[in-house]
Amino acid sequence: MLRSTLLKLSESKGFANWVTSNGMTRRMAHRFVAGETLDEAVAAARACNNAGMMASLDYLGENVSTTADAQHSRDAYLEIFERIATEKLHANVSCKLTQLGLDLSVEFCEGLVLSVVERAVAHENFLRVDMEGSVYTQRTVELVKRVRARNPAIGTVIQSYLYRSETDIADLLAYGCRIRLCKGAYKESEDVAYANKIDVDANYVRLMQVLLSSGFYHGIATHDPRMIAATIRYAASKLISKDDFEFQMLYGVRTDLQRRLVHDGFRVRVYIPYGRDWFPYFMRRLAERPANVGFLLRNLFRP
Ligand SMILES: Cc1cc2nc3c(=O)[nH]c(=O)nc-3n(C[C@H](O)[C@H](O)[C@H](O)COP(=O)(O)OP(=O)(O)OC[C@H]3O[C@@H](n4cnc5c(N)ncnc54)[C@H](O)[C@@H]3O)c2cc1C
Repeated sequence: MLRSTLLKLSESKGFANWVTSNGMTRRMAHRFVAGETLDEAVAAARACNNAGMMASLDYLGENVSTTADAQHSRDAYLEIFERIATEKLHANVSCKLTQLGLDLSVEFCEGLVLSVVERAVAHENFLRVDMEGSVYTQRTVELVKRVRARNPAIGTVIQSYLYRSETDIADLLAYGCRIRLCKGAYKESEDVAYANKIDVDANYVRLMQVLLSSGFYHGIATHDPRMIAATIRYAASKLISKDDFEFQMLYGVRTDLQRRLVHDGFRVRVYIPYGRDWFPYFMRRLAERPANVGFLLRNLFRP
């Protein structure tokens, strides 16, 4: 109920204005967002690298409504790849297709994605296309497959809450696509997604096993200790090396667990978002954990 309300509020412009102009919520968002500038994201990535972890930099933004805004996002991603190279960071890049104009035209968006992936290849790097709400899933899978057929430096994300995910994984693996597996962060109806956590988790474990057995290098993105333990058990039982997959977690979430996995010899990548357009990302992080909202309310109404 609370999750659903927060995800609904993440679409409200009025609420966005209030949250983004309030000092308290801005400070709280800093727990999940590295800052508003690329310099701050680079500093966060450097800190991760120094702690033995890789990073994925994400320039925040989604659902742009003009081609100029989409081109601005494309330019930001080209710049990120340049900075990663000059700073010699162990990092790749994550982006959202609606930030690169998917709502405007698939062809236009694909052109921008291709130019970003070409820059990734020039630096022997990699672009991960995040997965957004289910209205975009089909277009995202198709676009990634088309780009992947021309250029291997692209991968995408699959969400275990969607019924269709097993089929999408088979489809993407046929293209040799690298996949990040997550549970899914958007508000979805029971027509397309499991409503109960127990089913989402069971599907996560099933899909994790398919990915790990596929022979390709994938990302297991979760902070759930049970999903992580299941992954470690499965890899050990199938003699899959710790170097053949990576765990991925979000900036500011379960840093204790991130460090423990590094200590135990696993590869860990931290997803580092930055930029001014942090409101919807922040709302999804609140929705994932009711305790985050309690913390926010306590601080907002503190005398
Ligand atoms: C690297 C990465 C990339 C992602 N990319 C996408 C994407 O492209 N598309 C998409 O739909 N979703 C994405 N997600 C979000 C994902 O779908 C989940 O919403 C999110 O990871 C929470 O699920 P969980 O697996 O951590 O398990 P949960 O069962 O939700 O959480 C397990 C435990 O993790 C901790 N935790 C989880 N979330 C938070 C939080 N926000 N604040 C504090 N503690 C928390 C809590 O201790 C919780 O008990 C991504 C997640 C990660 C880690």
